[in-house]
Amino acid sequence: MELVTLQEILANTKKEHYAVGAFNFNGYEDAAGIAQGAAAARSPVILMASQGACQYIGLYETAGLIKGIAKKLSVPICLHLDHATDLDFIREAVRAGFSSVMIDASAKPYEENIHDSKTIATFAKDYHCSVEAELGKVGGKEDNIVVEDRTASFTDPAQVPRFVEETGIDALAIAFGSVHGFYKSEPKLDFDRLAAVLKLTACPIVLHGGTGIPIADIQKCISMGLAKVNVGTELKAAFSNTIRKMCAELPKDEFDPRKFLKPVKAACAAIVQEKLEAFGSAGKA
Ligand SMILES: [Zn+2]
Repeated sequence: MELVTLQEILANTKKEHYAVGAFNFNGYEDAAGIAQGAAAARSPVILMASQGACQYIGLYETAGLIKGIAKKLSVPICLHLDHATDLDFIREAVRAGFSSVMIDASAKPYEENIHDSKTIATFAKDYHCSVEAELGKVGGKEDNIVVEDRTASFTDPAQVPRFVEETGIDALAIAFGSVHGFYKSEPKLDFDRLAAVLKLTACPIVLHGGTGIPIADIQKCISMGLAKVNVGTELKAAFSNTIRKMCAELPKDEFDPRKFLKPVKAACAAIVQEKLEAFGSAGKA
């Protein structure tokens, strides 16, 4: 299948009470594993590359890899650029064939955030590409962006309607208690804030920092109308831990790289399948 946009992949989420999982990858093995997990769950899926991952793999290489994976897959895949702050880099990703991009201008003042998000949404309109923006700051560490927990500021619901209308974005990430990375203590989501936002806009809402939030809390958000759930840290940990495990298990004279790397696919596929089933999108492809 050809890559699809967020608009397409999230279209039925609210009506049918499910969310689509969005998973970060950093190379071929985890990307292939995510696709494999989605195929096993018969679920649509969003593959995300951060600005740092794209710089590591190469922007056109990333697009080519995922287009190739999507070609033989029978479930819809969206290729999404995650948390990008550089407008020129985002435009290049759109040209490279990403079917979705995130402009994260959440560190900037409200008016500037609107300006930058609108600039990208307007640019992407000429391509088959959707745009996600962020209002409020999700705490923790995401690649090149660090937000100290204490400075992380929750989204003000009152700012949402004008932001969505003026920017013309397709999805909105909000901050209501989740953080990037592993949680130091049990996360407390502000469900009332989510409810207030969902009441004020029809724009699909995104939860960042899905790793470590109790699944029942995520399911509660989904039942309320949450459309997209981002999971990154858990897959990064699975990738690294699998390599560590294979280094310990394989004979010292083993030199075939595939012996070390192949189990990464299965490890990522298992996590993704489980998440998609929990998010209610299994069987929706
Ligand atoms: Zn994020």
